[in-house]
Amino acid sequence: MSILVLGGAGYIGSHTALALVNAGRDVVVADNLETGFRKAVPEMARFYKGDIRDRAFCDGLFEREQIDGVIHFAANSQVGESMTNPLKYYANNMGGTRVLLESMVAHGVGKIVFSSTAATYGEPERVPILETDATVPTNCYGETKLSMEKMMKWISVAHGLRYVALRYFNACGAQPDGSIGEAHNPETHLIPVILQVPGGQREKISIFGDDYPTPDGTCIRDYIHVCDLAQAHILALDYLLSSGENNVFNLGNGVGFSVKEVIEEARKVTGHAIPTEVLPRRAGDPAQLIASSEKAKTLLGWKPEFEDLHTIIQTAWDWHKTHPRGFED
Ligand code: UDP
Repeated sequence: MSILVLGGAGYIGSHTALALVNAGRDVVVADNLETGFRKAVPEMARFYKGDIRDRAFCDGLFEREQIDGVIHFAANSQVGESMTNPLKYYANNMGGTRVLLESMVAHGVGKIVFSSTAATYGEPERVPILETDATVPTNCYGETKLSMEKMMKWISVAHGLRYVALRYFNACGAQPDGSIGEAHNPETHLIPVILQVPGGQREKISIFGDDYPTPDGTCIRDYIHVCDLAQAHILALDYLLSSGENNVFNLGNGVGFSVKEVIEEARKVTGHAIPTEVLPRRAGDPAQLIASSEKAKTLLGWKPEFEDLHTIIQTAWDWHKTHPRGFED
């Protein structure tokens, strides 16, 4: 009985692998280490370096290990990059998932929890967003994730595979003991980029657009702690292992914060002035994304523990302060 975490050396993947190990599960991690870090993988997990676009690599995993369920994080995840290099997202996100599913079908591995995103919705018609709301992505990243969800739906119809897609809103924070945290190179996500200013790696934070139709003109997002996301993956996996049907769940706190509000909270956490500059809008950004996660709470029994933005940023700051160069420290 092993769980395979694909992309388990990445940010959300490594926190989920650690939560699985801490819950007493037997964990196998695979990662190509293009954006992930070997040091982020828990010691108790068996690690395989390889790429899910490589069919022989996927086949080898399913032949050597007794995999009951797959948690799939292995994808590129930057909105901005997906707009300038969409073919990378088609090749890796959709291409990788296609090969993975071929191998899973061939080896009779029938359960997958899939890392999806709020970007599948695009500009929402209303907030909080429900899982049944329209999905009209405004960026290529969201488009590929939505296509991956649909790929699983049709593989389910044809081959009986069962899947849960978890649409995360804005993942942030770090393991509270400071052992692992967010590390991207280059870093593009708002909270770690803000923290580079008090961390001495950046002079100021750029605000991408202050002319959105929101109260202070900056984009509003729903920030959810990475450890709460990790717990949701375990619940979703257990839901599938106990015969739960295909399903899609939003994961967020249900509260929106503007870019300016996040910067202000980071000033309080770090005691640093954090200067700002306003730049033009970043292509593909919706004005406002806020989740309704009632379905995950009701059906999966999910209870986020980190509901307060101050605490979330504090865990991120504790990690970045002690690891200014991420896993290279
Ligand atoms: N953002 C910003 N400056 C930055 C990085 C991000 O103003 O240096 C904004 C971005 O335009 C978006 C929000 O912060 O409105 C969250 O962006 P992030 O890339 O963290 O996550 P996304 O919502 O794209 O998944």
